[in-house]
Amino acid sequence: MKYTTILFDADGTLFDYDKAEALALETALAKYGLPMPPETHLLYRKINQSKWELFEQGAISKIDLQVSRFEGLFSELGLSGIKADKFNADYLDRLAEGAQLTEYAYEVCAELAKTKRLAIITNGVAKVQFGRIKKSLIKKFITDVFVSEDIGFSKPDARYFDYVFKTLGLRDKSLVLVVGDSLTSDIQGGANYGLDTCYFNPSNKQNSYSVSPTYEIISLTELLRL
Ligand SMILES: [Mg+2]
Repeated sequence: MKYTTILFDADGTLFDYDKAEALALETALAKYGLPMPPETHLLYRKINQSKWELFEQGAISKIDLQVSRFEGLFSELGLSGIKADKFNADYLDRLAEGAQLTEYAYEVCAELAKTKRLAIITNGVAKVQFGRIKKSLIKKFITDVFVSEDIGFSKPDARYFDYVFKTLGLRDKSLVLVVGDSLTSDIQGGANYGLDTCYFNPSNKQNSYSVSPTYEIISLTELLRL
């Protein structure tokens, strides 16, 4: 592999966000005496996804995203009397505990870290991401963590990548690879900035966006053969 620096997305790429999210939501709901049937989780994911898209388009702020997803959920479930901002804080505390990795994330990072610099680029919430990365087994392989909330710009904004390049002292774009599971933020962001990209697509979803990644993989182990 010619790349000397790999910029990994966190959620859905190195971290099993689905597992962490389900557990955090279930325990936060339980605090209010509420169950979490699978429909509730699916409903939450649908609402959360639509809010993240609005956020990525710059239409709403991070805090609006966080609070409005639970306002939406409670309204759909016909629940009143739960404060969405308070619930969101409870949820985020629990999410920060979720350090579950995706399949082969540990092995692949361990191998790549022998010869490459590995950094995390994530649009997540700073407190959650730092909490989770600090608790994770891959912490020792990651040199830097860039959380959009701290930087003031999010993927796919070029200013986010400018910040990463400046901080890491990177010059040659051809030696940097972006790896992520989101076409709209990771792949689009990397491509806009002139970087090679690797789309991690474990469930083999159809690409319905106009952006084309340099590589597409269904298992992280394929990175070792690029
Ligand atoms: Mg992701």
